[in-house]
Amino acid sequence: MAKRDALKNQSVAVIGAGWAGCAAACELVQQGALVTLLESSRNLGGRARGVTVHGHELDNGQHILLGAYTESLRLMRLVGVDTQTALLNLPLQMVYPALEDGMSFITPRLPAPLHLLLALISSAGLSFADKMALARFSSTARWMGWRLNEDCSVIELLERFDQTPRLCRLMWIPLCIAALNTPPERASAQVFLNVLRDSLGARRAASDMLIPRLDLSSILPEKAAEFVRVHGGQVSTAHTVTGLQQSEHGKWQLELKQAEASNVANYDAVILACDFANADRLLSTLPATDQAVPLPAMSYEPITTCYLQYAQNVRLPRPMLALLDDAGQKKWGQYVFDRGQLHTDQAGLLAVVVSVSQAATEIDKHELAMDIAAQLAQSLGMPELAQPIWHQCISEKRATFSCAPGLHRPDNLTAYPGLYLAGDYTKGDYPATLEGAVRSGIAASQAIIKDLKAAKN
Ligand SMILES: Cc1cc2nc3c(=O)[nH]c(=O)nc-3n(C[C@H](O)[C@H](O)[C@H](O)COP(=O)(O)OP(=O)(O)OC[C@H]3O[C@@H](n4cnc5c(N)ncnc54)[C@H](O)[C@@H]3O)c2cc1C
Repeated sequence: MAKRDALKNQSVAVIGAGWAGCAAACELVQQGALVTLLESSRNLGGRARGVTVHGHELDNGQHILLGAYTESLRLMRLVGVDTQTALLNLPLQMVYPALEDGMSFITPRLPAPLHLLLALISSAGLSFADKMALARFSSTARWMGWRLNEDCSVIELLERFDQTPRLCRLMWIPLCIAALNTPPERASAQVFLNVLRDSLGARRAASDMLIPRLDLSSILPEKAAEFVRVHGGQVSTAHTVTGLQQSEHGKWQLELKQAEASNVANYDAVILACDFANADRLLSTLPATDQAVPLPAMSYEPITTCYLQYAQNVRLPRPMLALLDDAGQKKWGQYVFDRGQLHTDQAGLLAVVVSVSQAATEIDKHELAMDIAAQLAQSLGMPELAQPIWHQCISEKRATFSCAPGLHRPDNLTAYPGLYLAGDYTKGDYPATLEGAVRSGIAASQAIIKDLKAAKN
């Protein structure tokens, strides 16, 4: 059977146009399915979407991708995004402002693992013992095949691998927070190792850091929607699915908040590509079956992004710098991005990321921005940074699930025939990331193909 015909004339509804739903919809239309993609918000992209701030096309939160995000990059190219221009490609690095008691670790563009070795030798701010600890981590993790017999917290892993306090403070903890958005005391060591395996432990390009130059809606969801439409599918925003039911013939019908004609359509399959809470809510509208197991409980971690606009001539030494955070001292910022080095229209605009801090989501936004401005002025030795022209902080209280050791994550398959789950929280190697979402969307589509093929035979 030709690839394009695998789902010919099969109608599939995808609920939610975040990155998982977009990936699923693109995969399905390629297989010939009649796809309806429904999104409750007016904008596409879910937790990774463009927002307009003071006339700039920015994001609900500063994101970073890795070269290891192979499926996201493949999908972007498929829908016509030029990844070379849409993303700023930086070699793997962890660099603190020169005035801070930090470190400078930048991998040269050489084949792996030479790039790590040379970065280690030439890194500044690390003692011989720190460097040896880093080399030990890398070689032990490789020797173990990046697998643990039993999951534990990242802090336990660092202790087991005998990592020095300075290396933990400057490298491992910031990396854990950036990759898993979970504090190392309660973050899964196995998921952390999975990310390191596919970046540090793989070819050099996999460890590259990719920073979007365009807003997140335009680097995938909007192009994906266009792709779906061109391939005969429908994409509707401002369409909230409130319930679903299955007829005795196995077809699915959707209830929509807005009384739309599409609620009478019959679908052969449905993918719930909503966030975890909404998927859970929709599943609970279905009749209980012996096989249906409720979704496991999940807790969440926040991320706050603070945009600060300065004069156009303000420029940081690098597009991205790590910061020494200390919430007790009101130093909230963990990473700062110079948006002016990403986009010519954004000269003088900085984006500061504060991950996993509940406190940062609770304090007054003006106070938070001014604390961050003071931190930047001091850390970078640029007093002018204390007084931004304008600022805007965006807190996402449920940015990601808390990536705890041994967390039970649901499968793409549900107990209901023809109903599938997609989203960053489903079973997979990755933490809550764009790549995890995209892979999940693709996996859900492939499960549909497999099941429909099996039903035909
Ligand atoms: C501030 C922030 C920073 C982040 N930084 C990074 C990063 O640097 N790198 C990285 O890889 N990841 C990062 N992430 C994580 C990444 O954004 C998410 O993992 C990913 O976007 C999740 O995509 P998803 O499709 O699984 O879910 P979502 O994006 O939540 O998509 C679900 C969609 O379903 C819609 N929906 C919900 N209910 C309904 C309904 N009933 N009917 C119709 N539609 C519905 C929602 O509106 C939403 O659009 C960050 C997240 C945040 C919030």
